Amino acid sequence: MQADCSEKMIVFGVDIGGTITKLGVFKRGGEMLARHVFPTGSKEDGGVLEVVADKIREVLSRGSITADDVAGIGVGVPGIVTKGGVVVECANIDLKEVYLQEEFGKLLPEIQAPVRVGNNANAAALGEMYKGAGKGREDIVMVTVGTGLGAGIILNGQIVTGYHGSAGEIGHLMVNEEETVPCGCGHYGCLEQYIAAPGIVRAAQQLLKEHPEIPSPLRSYSGGGAEEDLTLPVGIVPPPMTVEAVFDAAHNGDEIAEFVIGRASTMLGKALAFVADFAAPEVIILGGRVSRASALMLDSVTDSYKRFVYPALAGIPIRLAALGSDAGMIGCDYMIEQCLYGDKP
Ligand SMILES: [Zn+2]
Repeated sequence: MQADCSEKMIVFGVDIGGTITKLGVFKRGGEMLARHVFPTGSKEDGGVLEVVADKIREVLSRGSITADDVAGIGVGVPGIVTKGGVVVECANIDLKEVYLQEEFGKLLPEIQAPVRVGNNANAAALGEMYKGAGKGREDIVMVTVGTGLGAGIILNGQIVTGYHGSAGEIGHLMVNEEETVPCGCGHYGCLEQYIAAPGIVRAAQQLLKEHPEIPSPLRSYSGGGAEEDLTLPVGIVPPPMTVEAVFDAAHNGDEIAEFVIGRASTMLGKALAFVADFAAPEVIILGGRVSRASALMLDSVTDSYKRFVYPALAGIPIRLAALGSDAGMIGCDYMIEQCLYGDKP
């Protein structure tokens, strides 16, 4: 039986990523009092949740907040989470078949409060609905394009997880049967292989190789041909090509980068049209590293979206996310607000 936490004033919002974990300390109502960023734990340093618990204990040891002040802990993880709060599995971190309420109960017995958990793309969507680009709405879709591609679908103010906890995994829609390189999921030709950051870089590298006659600033990067540049001093390793470098080149009119970004924008617009046809949200929000890299992409994505969506939905606005990398933590805070107080944005 959970203690009544509705009078307590502090919420921890924990966004566990593949490499970095962010812990936000929130006051009731959503004000962020402090933010702690630290490497995500692994088996070697005691475990993912143990590292989070240590950090929470450290915050409590500073004295301004006591365990009795804590109204709840909201957690986002990069994986599949059931409606009942069980983390089924995560792609890059060591969490499998764990019931977080029980685990935190053991790790932090001094905190008598609810623990809520969700997929971190869904948490980011909740954050944007609570405080960001979807504020005041309750039917939104947030598509996050970063290392991977996923959608957080919120209908009537509630995250749609589906029975299996994996609703919104649109990155694995199969769009190219001819693909010979496998996706992280094991299939070939998934959407995220072309739109997410590694896919954009891979496409640029491939075109640079196929068209050695076209000059491009991207040739000074690794995979762009710099390895074959005999004028490079011995021992100098070219920098890795990033998606930001491809965007910069496109911004400066580079032919190859413009083509790659144009093609990715068209595909992303099509993907958004698919999600809109399915969920008919009030607003679509684009987040993640790729979306942040270029606001310029928004126009071409919107054009493509309008071309492919069911015509009655062509007017749905597509907006860039407003909270940046804080969205996940803010969404985790909101999970507790929603669980304790039934708040609507
Ligand atoms: Zn896949």
